[in-house]
Amino acid sequence: MSIVILTGAGISAESGLGTFRDKDGIWTKVDLRDVATPEGFARDPAYVLEFYAARRAHGAEAKPNAAHFALARLESALLDQVLIITQNIDVLHETAGAKNVLHMHGVTNRDLCNNCGNRQETEQALTVESICPQCKSKGTLRPDVVWFGEMPYHMETIEKALEGCTTFVSIGTSGEVYPAAGFVASARMAGAHTIELNLEPSSGGNLFVESHYGPATEVVPKWVDEMLGQ
Ligand code: NAD
Repeated sequence: MSIVILTGAGISAESGLGTFRDKDGIWTKVDLRDVATPEGFARDPAYVLEFYAARRAHGAEAKPNAAHFALARLESALLDQVLIITQNIDVLHETAGAKNVLHMHGVTNRDLCNNCGNRQETEQALTVESICPQCKSKGTLRPDVVWFGEMPYHMETIEKALEGCTTFVSIGTSGEVYPAAGFVASARMAGAHTIELNLEPSSGGNLFVESHYGPATEVVPKWVDEMLGQ
């Protein structure tokens, strides 16, 4: 058995971190072209850094919820049979105790230097005056998150995992952002059982054989209990 779990903003919604595309979501307040593209960063780095400083601060205050803890429990019970792929840039899966987590869109609590490529975990807010601790350049640091138009991380490992999985579970993701939105199709090609856990059916909801709708803090622990025969 090999279970691949894809998570999105919906799993962290009940931890107080806003989703992107829902009513009142982050994209209703800011234009993604301004804050989540390399072009937006080049146009107005101070604005983009301020936006991510707020995400970093919210992320540091947020606590994992019952859904994050349930997935960590599943992972610890089934050892290396579970892989969590998250689109989330928060680290709530890890805070809940999960170890086998791939952040395909990076994380808010890490800086990346555009000059030397150095990566460093930090809770400090970045500004255009920030200096890279490695190469000492000023104004070259950005949050280590993947913006629209950039290549998501870990794609080779993810593709291999999808090819070999027996169960694919999608949790709290709208199915609007590729390549993650296409993972269910790859898992189906591999013959995997496909499950959607979400507040409501996602764009690709009809591609899942099994679905459970409701808040992540309810449907995810219930599904994990069933998986573990509890
Ligand atoms: P999205 O905003 O497009 O979709 C959120 C999904 O979660 C929707 O399908 C919605 O029905 C569902 N949802 C909302 N509340 C829920 C709840 N309580 N329980 C279960 N499901 C719930 O988010 P997405 O699909 O993850 O979009 C991908 C992009 O959003 C990624 O680029 C990701 O980096 C980014 N994002 C991350 C965070 C975070 O790190 N916490 C927050 C917002 C957005």
